[in-house]
Amino acid sequence: MPIFEYRCQACKKEFERLVFAGEKDKIECPDCRSRDIQKKMSATSFMGAGIGTCASDGPKGFS
Ligand SMILES: [Zn+2]
Repeated sequence: MPIFEYRCQACKKEFERLVFAGEKDKIECPDCRSRDIQKKMSATSFMGAGIGTCASDGPKGFS
């Protein structure tokens, strides 16, 4: 399962979320409910995903 790290631009909180297909536009800050968040690259996103085979495709390929 893809786990992404996010940083809230409003309160600067950093948090992790499991993100399923179609949910990535619904992420909001757990503290202030802002949707002004920035996704961070995380090595954990690629665990078990075949390192090097789909890095250029990004996380969209997960389902
Ligand atoms: Zn926030």
